[in-house]
Amino acid sequence: MILLIEDEPGIVDFVKRGLEAEGFPVEAALDGLEGQQRALEESFDLIVLDLMLPGRSGLEILATLREARITVPVIALTARGEVEDRVAGLDAGAVDYLVKPFSLAELAARVRAQLRLTMRSPNSILRAADIEVSLLTREVARDGRTISLSTTEFDLLVYMLRHRGRVLSREQILAAVWGYEHDPQTNIVDVYVGYLRRKLGTPDSPAPITTVRSVGYRLDDAR
Ligand code: CA
Repeated sequence: MILLIEDEPGIVDFVKRGLEAEGFPVEAALDGLEGQQRALEESFDLIVLDLMLPGRSGLEILATLREARITVPVIALTARGEVEDRVAGLDAGAVDYLVKPFSLAELAARVRAQLRLTMRSPNSILRAADIEVSLLTREVARDGRTISLSTTEFDLLVYMLRHRGRVLSREQILAAVWGYEHDPQTNIVDVYVGYLRRKLGTPDSPAPITTVRSVGYRLDDAR
């Protein structure tokens, strides 16, 4: 379980939906006092902590956790330009930081990096048709053939695998993989589905991704 301490509802929604689509359950605290209390009293695998918070600042929360000898990894979120805050956050015990606005791919990569050693989930392998993805090692194979994907291609494939057999709209895919801040007019979803098809497919066996006209895409589970 991840604790997100953040007061901007748009970011809370984006991070929660995004990380949950990646298989990381998230609970949110919307101000510093509630966040600190939960961080002290409950047990989380990781905390994503905004530094600018009402009630109690992120740096104060980090100091309190350190005094209480709570060693949960903390990823700090800072606004652009707050260089001193970033340095102070790392000094105060944050293991990593991200500057807003960040992409879901960046955040998910940092979260995975922090959880890699402790995460031993039985659901760490995703399969559909003849595609197999390891969430721990990020290895992708189709019919035994290893496939090398970029971070964003990997995130897109994982999202489609988690929702296999269902039609996903471009808007759903865009929100889940790239986050809310992207222009919905972009054709980036089509471009990346094209990359995935090219990498997963062979002349004899096209990738099992169906285009659903005027809606979006579906990853098919049948062999
Ligand atoms: Ca804030």
